[in-house]
Amino acid sequence: MQGCADTRKVFTKSREYRTNALRHLSNGVSSTPRASQRPVPVVIDSAAGVTLTDVDGNRYLDYALGYGPLILGHSPEPVMHALRDALDRGLRTASVNSDEAALADLIAANVPCADRVAFVNTGTEAVQLAIRIARATTGRCRVAKFRCNYHGWVDDLHVGCSPGQDGPATLGQDPRASEMVTLLDWGESDAARQVLDDSFAAVIVEPAAINAGCFAPPAGFLETLRDVTRRHGIVLVFDEVITGFRMSPGGAQACYNVVPDMCVLGKALGAGLPIGAVAGTDGVMDVVSSGRMLHRGTFNGNPLSMAAGVACVSHLQEHAARIYPRMERFAQRISAHIQHEAARNAVAIHARSVGSALQVFAGVRRVDGIGDLAGIDRDATLLLTEELLREGVFTLPRGLMYLSAIHTDEDISTTLAAITRAVRSHAD
Ligand code: PLP
Repeated sequence: MQGCADTRKVFTKSREYRTNALRHLSNGVSSTPRASQRPVPVVIDSAAGVTLTDVDGNRYLDYALGYGPLILGHSPEPVMHALRDALDRGLRTASVNSDEAALADLIAANVPCADRVAFVNTGTEAVQLAIRIARATTGRCRVAKFRCNYHGWVDDLHVGCSPGQDGPATLGQDPRASEMVTLLDWGESDAARQVLDDSFAAVIVEPAAINAGCFAPPAGFLETLRDVTRRHGIVLVFDEVITGFRMSPGGAQACYNVVPDMCVLGKALGAGLPIGAVAGTDGVMDVVSSGRMLHRGTFNGNPLSMAAGVACVSHLQEHAARIYPRMERFAQRISAHIQHEAARNAVAIHARSVGSALQVFAGVRRVDGIGDLAGIDRDATLLLTEELLREGVFTLPRGLMYLSAIHTDEDISTTLAAITRAVRSHAD
């Protein structure tokens, strides 16, 4: 493996930006993973539809989609229209705006577990709120999470996020914060059955393990969690920050037909605006609904995110029959093509998809389960995503890709041709 597919693309202005940015902007980015993009974190000048143009004039088809939220692509007209209208009516008040209840109604109409909804600003905050609700409801403290699931960066749950690493994910975390967290293996029903008991307040799980590498739940796994948590009075929380409104208007819980007590939402719900939400049954949400448990935040329910959410969810709901099967089909086509090219070039690359998300790995020939993740070569994966970038396919540096409702057949054909060249270059 050496060299990159298209050496003609230059990144001069992105490199200059990085040099300047490093003077005062910590790490030159606003979220650590963005610094890992090779050959340099690309500075985007403009985005339209699913096309990105960087400051050097390079154009890309976007499969990073703002880390997932842009399910309708960049600046979709229904959302922009709602935002313009909201902007004209003022940025913020200290009171309520009518879109808050409208968005809660839309969530309740689509998401099976959602009798009531509480808004925050990010997925991380939503997770924090969900755990607090579970603790307030049960009067218990212990929480179970699964290895290689990610639930945001708060101290207590930012543990066991990568293969072979059970401790805190980063320097500076309070090690005591996770004392009340028990790690379980995702997909292992027997372990969950043995460990969970009446001392747990909550079990939180990514119903489809997208962050681990796009794994669908093994048969019976979510059902076992549902059964065991119900038996022990534990609040079952699905982290649907990625899967919510991305797998279907009802999220993964609707696809897999297992209804949790609560779910956390974010990303696609806001179509690109910052948002987080907890949605749950009347029973668990009662501590919030009654005002007995505090739910606070200056920017909660901000008018722009609410307006974007109403426009986005209304659109997804109306066009679901067309949008979701198409996104899933495209994700399968791309991942099958990567597999095909890897085999043809005899190179250790693997791809897998679930719903409209797909993951490409380098350094391994097959990743069938979370147990295979230890074999992945992260540097080789970064190099492969650089090769894709140079061919005009913009992925997350770690190889995760998302489809949007507006990728076209032509975009996919262009992407497959780019993948052919990138994989060949990777094999050289
Ligand atoms: N939960 C999951 C499953 C996520 O993938 C993420 C972010 O990627 C979060 C929670 C945290 O969301 P945010 O980055 O909006 O805080």
